[in-house]
Amino acid sequence: MSEARSSEKATEDPPRKRYRRDELSHSESEDEYVPYVPVKERRKEQLSKLGRLTQLKEQEQRGKSSSENEHDEEDEDGQVWGRKSNISLLDQHTELKKLAEAKKESAMERQLKEEEKILESVAEKKALMGVAELAKGIQYEDPIKTSWTPPKYILAMPEEKHEEMRRQLRILVEGEDVPPPTRSFREMKLHHAILSGLERKGIIKPSPIQVQGIPTVLAGRDIIGIAFTGSGKTLVFILPLIMFCLEQETKLPFIKDEGPYGLIICPSRELAKQTFDIIRYYCECLTASGAPEIRSCLAIGGVPVSESLEVIHRGVHIMVATPGRLMDMLDKKMVKLDVCRYLCMDEADRMIDMGFEEDVRTIFSFFCGQRQTLLFSATMPKKIQNFARSALVKPVTINVGRAGAASMNVIQEVEYVKQEAKIVYLLECLQKTPPPVLIFAEKKQDVDAIHEYLLLKGVEAVAIHGGKDQEERSRSVEAFRNGQKDLLVATDVASKGLDFPNVQHVINYDMPDDVENYVHRIGRTGRSGKTGIATTFINKANDESVLLDLKHLLIEAKQKVPPFLAELQSENEKYLDLGDGRGCSYCGGLGHRITDCPKLEAIQNKQASNIGRRDYLASNAADY
Ligand code: AMP
Repeated sequence: MSEARSSEKATEDPPRKRYRRDELSHSESEDEYVPYVPVKERRKEQLSKLGRLTQLKEQEQRGKSSSENEHDEEDEDGQVWGRKSNISLLDQHTELKKLAEAKKESAMERQLKEEEKILESVAEKKALMGVAELAKGIQYEDPIKTSWTPPKYILAMPEEKHEEMRRQLRILVEGEDVPPPTRSFREMKLHHAILSGLERKGIIKPSPIQVQGIPTVLAGRDIIGIAFTGSGKTLVFILPLIMFCLEQETKLPFIKDEGPYGLIICPSRELAKQTFDIIRYYCECLTASGAPEIRSCLAIGGVPVSESLEVIHRGVHIMVATPGRLMDMLDKKMVKLDVCRYLCMDEADRMIDMGFEEDVRTIFSFFCGQRQTLLFSATMPKKIQNFARSALVKPVTINVGRAGAASMNVIQEVEYVKQEAKIVYLLECLQKTPPPVLIFAEKKQDVDAIHEYLLLKGVEAVAIHGGKDQEERSRSVEAFRNGQKDLLVATDVASKGLDFPNVQHVINYDMPDDVENYVHRIGRTGRSGKTGIATTFINKANDESVLLDLKHLLIEAKQKVPPFLAELQSENEKYLDLGDGRGCSYCGGLGHRITDCPKLEAIQNKQASNIGRRDYLASNAADY
């Protein structure tokens, strides 16, 4: 109905005229109102009048198109990326990839530069020289000359032959005029009594470090010897020294109070004693064959000074010492280094690390002439190498295996053991191999606790740490060495350089704070070509940084990496290998760079806290 009505109405009304008009004119016409025209519009009008409207339109158009491409990016160089009519997306992608690579490279460069700066700031500014030499500005240019020469036919060989031998034995050398490697002890022209002494010990063929090291030392050269633990480096510095002393004694016998001619410094008393015993063995071989007597003495804490003095008074050829006792004897003028021409620092980096740096510098100041200097260690980070170079004359660096690498003869097992479960699990762990077994712990209390527990369980164990007196320490080490005791529990005093025969298993009751110590500890097994096992307990209490170092060490040594270590990732892992040598250039850890080195940070913190303390102490001292 309504529909009909409306249609009627439509027919009644005159048709409405339809027309278009714009809003402005509509409002103008309707309300007679002139609205506000924005300044922008008015300016546009004005400009159009001036004939610039077309230009403006173009600009507007450009603006519009860029806002349409909301995802287009403007990079740091002000370049716009995105849909472009003239460059294909593929080309743009390639271009962007190149830019990203360049950026990555510069990040690497930045990292390297930063590292260089850090290394420079921690590098030793003071040369490792005696004060008199420093004061007089004495610099030795040429190595010491000796009467030893390699056999003629070896000298006649072309250098390529020597290089090939080094390649076969994986010996890396650096330095000027490196003496040729020599494959047998006989060709090294050692005394026949020494040769038979070596044979009696079952030492028939020189090990790689000996092949290159012994001729180099015999030729009078300074060396930095880097070889994994148990590789036979002790003989490299002992045998040539005995030969030199024999030559000296034959030419001009040592008189009362003369000597020592050679000085060997070790970081621990046990290592010094062990080295001394080896020297004595070869000297006795010589005397037994009718050669002149070569006298040696041991100067370590815990042993009466009178014992060393007795030998010194008779004229001493070789002295083996720890830094503390040696300093004491030098200060008291009990011993002089005026005829000393041969200095060897065994486990040199540990010595510097353990804070003996100033002592070593002081010891250097007691020398009166040029000496042949030898530095040996299994771990030798760059900082120490740089530091050492200042003390050496045209040194030859001999590297057998990466500095800081673990012996490949050790099977390394890492197990997650909760703190409270450790001691019980230890017993289970002991079932892995027959004795002898070495157990390491960081703290003296832990060593005592483990020792007590094992004794209660009926295990034949002995223990050593810095808190025990020297007599007890020596007795325990001897009992373990002779096989009277099955087990030795120790702190790191026993981790450096000590050579116990046939250790089957090294158990790290805890992971040391420093991965270098780990390398030294596990190096007590798998020695001289034999294999051994090392088990290490780790848990949440361990610092992540050292665990990362451990992870990368295991990867390097092609060992099994347990899942909890494999999962561990560091933020800076992409920077671990920048092609400049891997890992940290300060401590040698493989799991971090120098920029994240916890050891360096600890040292710097200590130095920082010492600044205040020293002032405080100084002011206190002034009061007294
Ligand atoms: P070192 O690394 O000097 O502590 O020596 C580790 C062990 O290897 C010692 O027990 C040495 O007697 C033994 N050793 C050293 N040189 C050789 C060699 N050329 N052949 C077999 N055993 C060796």
